[in-house]
Amino acid sequence: MKKLGDEELKNVKNEVLNCRKCSLYQDRIKNKFYPVVGEGSHQAKIMFVGEAPGLNEAKTGRPFCGMSGKILDELLESVNIKREDVYITNILKDRPPGNRDPQPEEIKACTPYLERQIDAISPKIICPLGRYSMKFLMEKFGLGNQIEGISKIHGKSFKSDNLFQGVTIIPFYHPAVATYNPNIKKVLEEDFKILKTKELSKEEKQEAERRVEIMEENDSFS
Ligand code: URA
Repeated sequence: MKKLGDEELKNVKNEVLNCRKCSLYQDRIKNKFYPVVGEGSHQAKIMFVGEAPGLNEAKTGRPFCGMSGKILDELLESVNIKREDVYITNILKDRPPGNRDPQPEEIKACTPYLERQIDAISPKIICPLGRYSMKFLMEKFGLGNQIEGISKIHGKSFKSDNLFQGVTIIPFYHPAVATYNPNIKKVLEEDFKILKTKELSKEEKQEAERRVEIMEENDSFS
């Protein structure tokens, strides 16, 4: 199973490196940019999906390695999650000129790669970073009727009970917003705490439940 996932991720990488499915490839070639496929653990339980590479990312081929990446790293560290244990990618693999918003035809052309990455990694939790990835992922996982503005549903957990793959979607504000709005950084820090509880191992969960039972028993005696 793992081997199949690795193989598929390698196929996706090779296809993305040569992709010409939308006009964004012209800028990539003209500027000697790289497409940003994604990076992280192929066994990740948590996957982060941003919008599209920025300038630093297109120059290096790595997701979230600029200012937004610094914020994402700090957020992960604040909940003791190692960057190498998660998988990080975007809905668009090429940089839109001037960091403009992704266009519908670009999302349509590029997201089959993301869907194959999700199938190969099979994460339990997918965290869209920003409204475009939130919309795409919630629709993909049958949660389209629960979509609201990101300011309403950031940090909330949506369970998709697809027959083959139970996935939880937790949308967050895009970390770039925190680079110019310190209040959003605080909101993101609060929101990320949800990942701490979701990440508990089975043993830790049993231990936490046991502790609640003991507290409840003590309460009923007092
Ligand atoms: N913003 C994104 O959405 N993705 C990146 O990889 C970098 C910045």
